[in-house]
Amino acid sequence: LRRITLASRPQGDATTEHFALETSDIPEPGAGEALVAVDHFSLDPYMRGRMDDGPSYAEPVAVGATMGAQGVGRVIASRADGLSEGDVVTGMTGWASHAVLPAEQLTKVPDGVPPTAVLGVLGMPGFTGWFGLTEIGKPKAGETLVVGAATGPVGSMVGQLAKAYGLRTVAVAGGADKCEMAREVYGFDAAVDHRAYGSVSEMRKALDEAAPDGIDIYFENVGGKTLEAVLPLMNTFGRIPVCGMVAWYDGAGDVQTTMPALWRTLLVKRMAVQGFIIADHWDRFGAFQSDVAPRVNKGEIEWREDVAKGIESAPQAFLDMLKGGNTGKQIVAV
Ligand code: NDP
Repeated sequence: LRRITLASRPQGDATTEHFALETSDIPEPGAGEALVAVDHFSLDPYMRGRMDDGPSYAEPVAVGATMGAQGVGRVIASRADGLSEGDVVTGMTGWASHAVLPAEQLTKVPDGVPPTAVLGVLGMPGFTGWFGLTEIGKPKAGETLVVGAATGPVGSMVGQLAKAYGLRTVAVAGGADKCEMAREVYGFDAAVDHRAYGSVSEMRKALDEAAPDGIDIYFENVGGKTLEAVLPLMNTFGRIPVCGMVAWYDGAGDVQTTMPALWRTLLVKRMAVQGFIIADHWDRFGAFQSDVAPRVNKGEIEWREDVAKGIESAPQAFLDMLKGGNTGKQIVAV
């Protein structure tokens, strides 16, 4: 068994030194458990928060413990009813080549679904985009939506659904290639490259041109310069589902507080700003699947993956993803 553990907690930016590759014997499943040979696991931005030990909505990873992640793989030994060798399953395997899990923590991947889709478009990230947009964003045809990290699994779901609901969709993405992908693959009406602007005001001008009627929904994935550029462009009664702020996850950088301006904008524009954590909403997962799986099957929703090869590549792929090195859902092929 090979696994990646948290070697130490980062102060500021994380590096590959904060991870360790460890090997051990492959464990046997106990009663009610199955042993899974992991084919792929997911790398997600939230994992950066779990490396720290500050207060959060979830427990941190203990130093020396395996980094947590959802994986997909094949059952190679089972002592659980309903699970047999060869079954393709998903569960919280961690950054590891093998995992022993109780049967109730494993879900069979339905026939006809590409296994890795359950890590992205049909899994937690896709669900996050769907839930945050529909339940918190409350989109209406004719409105304008802006979303950052627009070519990632959350942002691309948000953009494609919003387009289908009849909104004008504006992507914020890093680099010309990702902006082209946002327009050509995911159907955004316009794309703004956040790397192309040195100042908030230049970026705001570009967003203003991309959203001539103002912004009704800002689906917040990134924070940073994008948030500052967007805020004054929000329309009255605008909505901001606060999903993530990846620009501020890895080291806080030179965050400058603009608290009074922010607070005033929220009041004057009568805005609804609501944070959400998708883990509180699993009761809606079935509704998400019924809505989105048919759209994916019909090819109405596009999805892309970025596959890092080999478990040893996971730490660098993870750190790169936090800074925009991924194009599509970042996964690791064990
Ligand atoms: P992505 O695959 O899109 O990867 C993160 C992306 O963030 C990078 O590719 C990069 O895209 C972008 N990014 C990094 N730094 C900056 C920056 N300084 N300014 C603007 N963009 C930046 O991630 P996901 O789709 O998996 O997740 C998107 C967001 O959703 C994250 O904030 C994540 O934490 C959040 N999330 C929240 C959940 C919840 O329950 N609330 C659940 C799941 C995800 P680019 O190159 O285009 O800049």
